[in-house]
Amino acid sequence: MSKLFIVDDDPFTCDLLEAIAKPLFLNIETFQSSRLFSKVKINDDDIILLDLMMPNMDGIEVIRFLAKSNATATLVLISGYDRGVLHSAEALAQDHGLRVAKHFTKPIPTTELISLLSTLFDQNINNEVKLPGKVKPNSATFIPDKDDLQQALKNNQFIINFQPQILMKTADIFGAEVLVRWQHPEHGLISPDKFIPLAERSGQMGQLTEEIIYLAIEQSMKWQNMGKATKLSINISAQNITSLQLPEQLKKLVKLHHLDPAMFMLEVTESTLMNNITTSLDILTRLRLKGFQLSIDDFGTGFSSLSQLHKIPFTELKIDQSFVSNMLDDHDSRAIVETCIMLGHKLNMNVVAEGIENQATWDILLEAGCDIAQGYFIAKPMSASEFTDWEYGNTSSR
Ligand code: C2E
Ligand code: CA
Ligand code: CA
Repeated sequence: MSKLFIVDDDPFTCDLLEAIAKPLFLNIETFQSSRLFSKVKINDDDIILLDLMMPNMDGIEVIRFLAKSNATATLVLISGYDRGVLHSAEALAQDHGLRVAKHFTKPIPTTELISLLSTLFDQNINNEVKLPGKVKPNSATFIPDKDDLQQALKNNQFIINFQPQILMKTADIFGAEVLVRWQHPEHGLISPDKFIPLAERSGQMGQLTEEIIYLAIEQSMKWQNMGKATKLSINISAQNITSLQLPEQLKKLVKLHHLDPAMFMLEVTESTLMNNITTSLDILTRLRLKGFQLSIDDFGTGFSSLSQLHKIPFTELKIDQSFVSNMLDDHDSRAIVETCIMLGHKLNMNVVAEGIENQATWDILLEAGCDIAQGYFIAKPMSASEFTDWEYGNTSSR
């Protein structure tokens, strides 16, 4: 049976929260001191209403303590402070692998809290907590290792999917992002999050990217022979931009297949750049000189300075999807998206928003002047033949 913990130094708020929760929870424990709370044993299906601002041990310290004791309970954060503090605390909790169901600023919106608590309660009863955050380990989950990856490379088990990118003003197709998947004979289709980090750790990213580029070039040639020119965006990892020969090698490969480098956009994340800024700068600048397009991916999540950004000749800025997907309900995310669009345009870049999942988000982005759209609202990543059909359906319906 899940238990509700209320941790708030303010007795009035404690009373209020207790009154709200009483009809739902049999088991409620209230702590006006976070020190005392930190002595309690927490179970995975417990729910903690946590005030961030407390004397002695503040909410952030409580989060650190929960993380240390490997607690996977669900957190609801409360603060009398501005949303900025709540955001940072939520991000910190998630970095520690804790689940944050929601955050509230005081005064607490009572009806919203009641509906949240009853949802959480139902989910726990059904024993299937569907909240974002920590994924509980599942023994059925396949955890690949270095040898599995090597085997998969050898047996050509990697395939690529294509997710359309649309020019917002005209709704014409701009191109597609190439996204790798592992077609495993026993475990089925495995998503990149499960093996890219491994490939990066084990030094296999060079080989894997080579395979992906090869597959992309192969498909690009097929489409070119069908009279279609589809721009392809390819993700590049930090490990891929360590070899100073990369620009020449890529150019040779593309030329060999009679393709134009301008048809390829190389997506690099901010964190990739931070690894070795001088080498990255050298390689990326020469890639651009050889005619490839360059995109800065997941923009807004890294910590690259604007002066570094300005040094690299990016042609495209891709706003991180976390901002895009939150922009409807969250003012700060929306402000970040709008600022990224302005910044990109000032620096002469095309701006892409990814993670668009609904019409309302599309409308705001269009109005804000965003150039290119990508997301489930337009289409999910798909195979080459599905992409061709989709493209056909899309152009013939206009
Ligand atoms: P990314 O580069 O940010 O790619 C976008 C991810 O967001 C893709 O996930 C895509 O399927 C997903 N996505 C697109 N639209 C939406 C949407 O509207 N809503 C939501 N919730 N998600 C959306 P995917 O394919 O699972 O890839 C995850 C990450 O794995 C990629 O993030 C990228 O970092 C990495 N990755 C994928 N393919 C490659 C690759 O070929 N090479 C490298 N180096 N990394 C790759
Ligand atoms: Ca990407
Ligand atoms: Ca991205």
